Amino acid sequence: MKKVVIDAGHGGVDSGATANGIVEKDLTLKISQYIKNRLDELGIESTLTRDSDITLEPTNRVNKVLNTYGNGSDVIVLSNHINAGGGDGAEVIYALRNNDTLAKKILMELENKGQNVRKVYQRVLPSDPSKDYYYMLRNTPNTESLIVEYGFLDSTKGDDVNLLKNNWQNLAEATVKALASYIGVDYNVEPSYYYTVQKGDTLWSIARKFNTTVDKLKDMNNLTSNMLSIGQRLQVSENLNNNDNYYIVKKGDTLYSIAKKFNLSVDELKEINNLNSDTLSIGKSLLVSNNNSNNYSSIYTVNKGDNLYSIARKFNTTVSMLAELNNLESTLLSIGQKLLIP
Ligand SMILES: [Zn+2]
Repeated sequence: MKKVVIDAGHGGVDSGATANGIVEKDLTLKISQYIKNRLDELGIESTLTRDSDITLEPTNRVNKVLNTYGNGSDVIVLSNHINAGGGDGAEVIYALRNNDTLAKKILMELENKGQNVRKVYQRVLPSDPSKDYYYMLRNTPNTESLIVEYGFLDSTKGDDVNLLKNNWQNLAEATVKALASYIGVDYNVEPSYYYTVQKGDTLWSIARKFNTTVDKLKDMNNLTSNMLSIGQRLQVSENLNNNDNYYIVKKGDTLYSIAKKFNLSVDELKEINNLNSDTLSIGKSLLVSNNNSNNYSSIYTVNKGDNLYSIARKFNTTVSMLAELNNLESTLLSIGQKLLIP
């Protein structure tokens, strides 16, 4: 089965485009994390080039792509971007070596989600028209690589700004649906943090079902009254990307794997979530950060093979936070060096 490398465009010192309160690097990260979570749920193997706000130089970014699943035609490289420059609508750029099937599927699904769409296209390097213009396509030579521009964050005509701000999950879901169809995986799992209102449902019954409160439901969905209509789509769980304290259980997760991921013990995880058993259901949201220990700094001793990036990942923080906390002048570490962990 094809595997997917999800690339969150820009990051760190490179913010990408900025306008109307939208920062490209932040939105591409949220979209990429959303897609990763959904591909996990659908059983499609995937990885992120970055899952925090770090700087990736082009060479570094390409190496991350090629070093994960290799450089074969069974690897899809999906680079997520937000456009700027005064247009409106989504577009997909695909590599010279590839056909337009996946690009067209993505654009079609974006259109189904209400986004204006422009076109799918290829772009050549002016100095050598046999090569792709964009390095992410040019330097990932045997993979199936695309750049998705979800809309223009500085659009003045279309609905792009509103969709990017308030409906980016739906735009990301469009890509998920297109990938599932292209890869040949059943697209039948509703996003775990959405629920479609059924006959007989009330805000109270839905809140109970999803382990949340009526107030939170109203807040997440900008509801001004308690009235619901059948078929209405409600966000029922806070998105992991908006709230780092929660994690939504995915297929294949265990208490042990989640505890490990968030640097907790299984007992701590059970305690902060009042769990009586070890059984988890997919879509359940778990508190994964113990508020009491949020500001607690622990000390980590650098081991052979560690680098700032791997340590940041391990402790669910960022390279810049580590560097700042430890007053690091460079990213070079020495074995045995003690680092404060936020
Ligand atoms: Zn960009």
